[in-house]
Amino acid sequence: MPSHIYDAIVIGAGGMGSASAYHLAKIGADVLVLEQFQRGHKFGSSHGETRIIRFFYDKPFYAELMKTAYSEWRKLESASNKQLLFITGSINLGENGNPYGQSIKKSLDAAGVECEWWEQIQLSERFPQFSVSDNMDILWQKDTGFLYASECVLTHLQLAEQHGATVLENTRVIKIDWQTDFPTVHTASKQFQGRKIVLTAGAWTSYLLRELNLSLSVTKQQVCYYRPTDTELFQPNQFPVFTEITKSGEFVYGIPFFGENGVKVARHGLGTNVLPDTCDRTPDADYIQRMDRYIAERIPSLGKTVSAEVCLYTETPDEDFIIDTHPQCPNLLIAAGFSGHGFKFCSLVGRIMSELVSRGKTDFDISPFRINR
Ligand SMILES: Cc1cc2nc3c(=O)[nH]c(=O)nc-3n(C[C@H](O)[C@H](O)[C@H](O)COP(=O)(O)OP(=O)(O)OC[C@H]3O[C@@H](n4cnc5c(N)ncnc54)[C@H](O)[C@@H]3O)c2cc1C
Repeated sequence: MPSHIYDAIVIGAGGMGSASAYHLAKIGADVLVLEQFQRGHKFGSSHGETRIIRFFYDKPFYAELMKTAYSEWRKLESASNKQLLFITGSINLGENGNPYGQSIKKSLDAAGVECEWWEQIQLSERFPQFSVSDNMDILWQKDTGFLYASECVLTHLQLAEQHGATVLENTRVIKIDWQTDFPTVHTASKQFQGRKIVLTAGAWTSYLLRELNLSLSVTKQQVCYYRPTDTELFQPNQFPVFTEITKSGEFVYGIPFFGENGVKVARHGLGTNVLPDTCDRTPDADYIQRMDRYIAERIPSLGKTVSAEVCLYTETPDEDFIIDTHPQCPNLLIAAGFSGHGFKFCSLVGRIMSELVSRGKTDFDISPFRINR
């Protein structure tokens, strides 16, 4: 048996694990983080430069939680002296009367978050990059933006270490023995013991919780990058985050030009089921062609895809997260199933996990995220 007992062992140093480690270390917990790859790797769900942050959701509880998530990101920026959150505003497009547009307007109104319907003329004056017909609903929300995702993960880890956390990379957990007073975590060569375990293993979660038989599907997702001739027109101060429910019911989104890659455009969801260790990480030609056809109609000056990237979603059947305690072990806490929309919540999930570890409860409403819902 190991002689040292950590206050918390965090398994997985992606978006959620890095944030949990930071919040735990910040309140003085003795934290060990175990990550199977190197920090910042590209095999999970949190790599790449950008992730959308937004209030608009068709389920009102997300908009409520986002209020604290935004403020936690701002606090992280102050603590690290880095800009991680970029506000661009957003437009949400869909055919006249599309139910998604109506329900996000309703949930924003319920949460007291300002938004406004725009006429086509307002859109073409403010953002002439878009080509839209006059039978579309256009919803503007000023607080939307994007997070510098890869840097958020590294910053959370760096600050966790500054507060005393130990991060072990290239260390894969193969088993969690939770039937003892203090759970034991096994790697191929070592064992570690913690008063609490925080499991934030993304696409690999089910491997470590076989006994629960969770309904989590891991899917291959792809994003395309565009490098228009006039890059100025697509900078974050000139071009918004956008989302659209297309005529065929697909959810497409885009993020302004940022970093090395360019303007990011992708379809949310509808990926094929894969296993995280064997997923083919080559982008599919037909997916790229599909995105290029969409762009040719909606934002023609973006041109064609210049590069593409693969990433994994871990999806629950209702696309709501799992944030809960293991049903048979109060010392094992789980944050998983972020279903392709979790990154914006990392700052808050980290805080929630630290509260669950230190106080055994949180005042945030995590009832929609119960494991046995
Ligand atoms: C293409 C794409 C676009 C997205 N866009 C957005 C967006 O715009 N806005 C938004 O809010 N969200 C977005 N998301 C979703 C968001 O990125 C994810 O919900 C979030 O990153 C999930 O974080 P995670 O910590 O659960 O998983 P990960 O970041 O994958 O972290 C899990 C970590 O656990 C490690 N691990 C797993 N098993 C073990 C083990 N046995 N031992 C040790 N380590 C282990 C893994 O190596 C990994 O580092 C997007 C996701 C993708 C793929």
